Amino acid sequence: MKHVINFSAGPSILPKTVFEQASQAVLDFNGMGLSILEISHRSSQFVAVMEEANALVRELIGLPEDYEVLFLTGGASTQFFMTVMNLLPEGKKAAYVDTGSWSAKAIKEAKILGSIDVIASSKEDNYTHIPKGYSVGSDYVFLHTTSNNTIYGTQYQSWPDSPVPMVCDMSSDIFSRPIDIDRFGLIYAGAQKNLGPAGVTLVIVKKDMLGKINRELPTMLKYETHINGKSMFNTPPVFPIYVSMLTMRWLKEQGGLAAIEEVNKRKADKLYSVIDEIPFYIGHSVPEDRSRMNVTFNLADASLNDPFRKFCEEAGCSGLKGHKSVGGFRASIYNAMPETGVDTLAEIMKAFALKHA
Ligand SMILES: *Cc1c(COP(=O)(O)O)cnc(C)c1O
Repeated sequence: MKHVINFSAGPSILPKTVFEQASQAVLDFNGMGLSILEISHRSSQFVAVMEEANALVRELIGLPEDYEVLFLTGGASTQFFMTVMNLLPEGKKAAYVDTGSWSAKAIKEAKILGSIDVIASSKEDNYTHIPKGYSVGSDYVFLHTTSNNTIYGTQYQSWPDSPVPMVCDMSSDIFSRPIDIDRFGLIYAGAQKNLGPAGVTLVIVKKDMLGKINRELPTMLKYETHINGKSMFNTPPVFPIYVSMLTMRWLKEQGGLAAIEEVNKRKADKLYSVIDEIPFYIGHSVPEDRSRMNVTFNLADASLNDPFRKFCEEAGCSGLKGHKSVGGFRASIYNAMPETGVDTLAEIMKAFALKHA
């Protein structure tokens, strides 16, 4: 098989062992003589998968008893409005921080259903940094943040001082570092960046955030429905949940969130030090807010973009094209990206700069 190092922003790389185990389960799940794709979600075998997935989320984070774990569908994009529907009572307000395209989408959806204030934004600077120095009023029901900005390559390295619980979109850095859970009333993440394949969304919600609204909601859009149904009110995305569970098992074997954070720091530092040392490359994010998941940069000479892309592809590195709102390049180096993959890219960047110096 051709060896490709996958720097794609999402859906993205998962551990190789997870791909192997998942493909085996497609053929014969746990020696049942049946594929994971054809068994009932009510079978004891799948119920065990769901329970293990739930337990692994709890164990990895160190989740207190008063939080619930849900595996839902609809992507993070459904959580943009489901959060507001379920958490924000009429007559009350929520605060939002705008740190990029995903925040902006969350804001747009929230405004359809509720009353919100955008209390800080870095839009005018093309989202090169995470806004700081604002204060959060204690009248808000929650503060919505986007922990990692996949497109711009910025990430909160410290959390805002907030008197109210945070609701956080962690789609692109969930489980990349320990989670200071006490700050969060709700966390959501589409699985396809750092947790598993597309098709499942992880939601972690503190119970006391619920039960405060009095509007009638469709059954499927109520968190309580899925809490009571243990994420199996209707047919859950069986395979994405299974693969996410395998990824979490892998993560536990790596030593959990504190251990993976160290690896992620090292990996990101390797690329950022090339960007800092060689003026040929220009990072998009200000240094203090740099993402350890998505490293965004431009070439000082944009006419070299195509040759650089080709040079990377020839060396087996794929998925490096930057998002159109930033241009240039983006190396997504999620948990599953081996350190050797990052080493290869760092060498390529150095070699290309030398060649064109
Ligand atoms: C990718 C991404 C999303 C989109 O999630 P869907 O699951 O496709 O709806 C939302 N937020 C962030 C931060 C992302 O990186």
